[in-house]
Amino acid sequence: MLNLEELKGIAAIKNPGGDYYVSLYLNVDPVTNPNGEYMIKVRNMLKETAEGLEKPVFKKVKEDIELLENYFIAQKPQFKKSVCLITRKSGGFWKEYHMAMPVQSGVFVDKTPYLKPLFGLMDSYLRHLVLLLSKDDARMFVVHMGEILEYGEIRTPDVIGKHKKGGWFALEQDRFERHTEFHVGLHLNEVVRQLSDFVQKQGISRIVLGGPQETLSMGREKLPESLSERIIGEFTAGMYETSRQILERARPVVEAYERGEKEETVDELVTRAHKNKGAVLGMEDVVLMSGEKRIMTLLVDPSMKQEGYACVSCGALALGPENCRWCGGDMHSVNYLIDLLMEKTVENGGRVEVVPENEKLRNLGKIGAILRY
Ligand SMILES: [Zn+2]
Repeated sequence: MLNLEELKGIAAIKNPGGDYYVSLYLNVDPVTNPNGEYMIKVRNMLKETAEGLEKPVFKKVKEDIELLENYFIAQKPQFKKSVCLITRKSGGFWKEYHMAMPVQSGVFVDKTPYLKPLFGLMDSYLRHLVLLLSKDDARMFVVHMGEILEYGEIRTPDVIGKHKKGGWFALEQDRFERHTEFHVGLHLNEVVRQLSDFVQKQGISRIVLGGPQETLSMGREKLPESLSERIIGEFTAGMYETSRQILERARPVVEAYERGEKEETVDELVTRAHKNKGAVLGMEDVVLMSGEKRIMTLLVDPSMKQEGYACVSCGALALGPENCRWCGGDMHSVNYLIDLLMEKTVENGGRVEVVPENEKLRNLGKIGAILRY
């Protein structure tokens, strides 16, 4: 999973020795590359890169370039939609990221790792923090593009309960209550301290609050505004459920929130398209605008399936087999035009919004695009 802190760490690398990093980005989606078709692209990209380098630089990265090519030959990795590999001195420094969204492909040779596409992904697809909170325990999870990772636990055990057997009952009622309040306060202070730090370092913009019913209201009331204003919803859960169970409980909350946000984007799309102001609806116009590289945001229903054609020489997409309208090249048929449209959109600097179960979009052809101009 992409981790903002780790990326910042890599970005801060000083390189006084003058070695070069080779960073490679590539769409490797098994859907659009069922037979490892990305190999042709890998070879072309690496060859072009090697040819464009000055001799002394090429000497320094020759082995890295071979290493990258061998990675794709040797491995049968569990690819997602895209991959990022960064190497220096033939694997002495090696980073490998698998992403669930397409990236802009390319090879970059420089004295520092090329991280812009990764930071871009972090920005575009916001992460959610799930905070599971009780009176003496807290667990933090990060949900990013459907993945969940537990980051840590904060336990503040009750000292009296621990050391004095029967201590709970030995205390008078009001002392007991004061003690409990004091103890919960200590715990919350610690949670707030660590959470604030984490939210800032990880660039978290949304928090989903979970836990036993009675602590949910406590969380809402006692967390400082800087944290509570990020809460987008809540769910009840036991403190000791597995991360998978927590994800299942948090998922509907996150999805409901995102649905709301996506509805707004669809509304913008529809309004603009109807006024003929920088937006198009339906397959035909979207494919055309993709060819003109004008798509800023592509909105697509995940149930959308479409066959089509791609240009053999320039890669442009079309619905029909007629020669490429951009370069005149021959077309070959493809079964997965939507996935290619998504890749092309990102390649050209746009973004992709997958919008499930939106009636408006479904009635308007399941696909549309907000344009740059
Ligand atoms: Zn073409």
